[in-house]
Amino acid sequence: MPSAMSEIFHVVPTDDWLMHEEHHDECVCGPHVEYFTRGTVVVHHALDGRHAGDAGWARRRAREVATDRALDRLPG
Ligand SMILES: [Zn+2]
Repeated sequence: MPSAMSEIFHVVPTDDWLMHEEHHDECVCGPHVEYFTRGTVVVHHALDGRHAGDAGWARRRAREVATDRALDRLPG
């Protein structure tokens, strides 16, 4: 039976310069949005540039969250 298909998880940097918008994908930081079978992960970018030297960070973090929450499993 169908469950909450579009659960959205936000990954927000702590102690950043501003508050991130966690209600839609239109945060000022231009978050990395990744869609998985059972939900969506929105990874916000820290405006202080703490991940500037690591281009793959947002994608990696999204996959970590997806694994934690089992978002990448097939339905059923
Ligand atoms: Zn943000």
